[in-house]
Amino acid sequence: MNEALKKLYQEVIVDHHKRPRNQGPLAGATHEATATNPLCGDEVTVRLVVDADKIAAVRFEARGCMLSGAAASMMTEEIVGKTLAEARAKREAFERALRSAGGDLGALEALAGVREFPSRMSCVTLPWQALASSLG
Ligand code: ZN
Repeated sequence: MNEALKKLYQEVIVDHHKRPRNQGPLAGATHEATATNPLCGDEVTVRLVVDADKIAAVRFEARGCMLSGAAASMMTEEIVGKTLAEARAKREAFERALRSAGGDLGALEALAGVREFPSRMSCVTLPWQALASSLG
């Protein structure tokens, strides 16, 4: 990955960290789960309002490193309005692409840099793990 691209990705992550999307409590949540990453103390809670098999609303709360919070913020933008099947498919596609060098991360490409730091991989997959748990 070239330096300019790295810088761009870093900016996207910092932006989500500074201005998290869909962060906070969610009134009337129908689904909720918390996932923790003991490796760096991250904790991500995901809450959903599911209506007619679609994610009508999603909010998260995160404690821990910048990566896990930014990844949670990015995830909410990816799944809102999607069906549960689509959200599950997105998680599978994201995790598969993340684990294969050169895999297409689509809108989550900014997180590709984590491939160089395998120990941080669980920071960016944590929100997706919480999402999957919340859906049971
Ligand atoms: Zn972390």
